[in-house]
Amino acid sequence: MSCPRCQGSLEELSLGDVSTVTCPHCGFADVPVEHVQEEEEPESWRDAFNRFYEH
Ligand SMILES: [Zn+2]
Repeated sequence: MSCPRCQGSLEELSLGDVSTVTCPHCGFADVPVEHVQEEEEPESWRDAFNRFYEH
């Protein structure tokens, strides 16, 4: 699978039963990303991981 933007190789990420692909070369992602304040994004990811491991 290659990036539709830059034809580089994509990386697959998964969290629980949700998976997506992103391009480390140009930043392409196959899911729409809501642009929130950058400082809040690591926090929400940490919360998601905490929920995942608590179950
Ligand atoms: Zn790319």
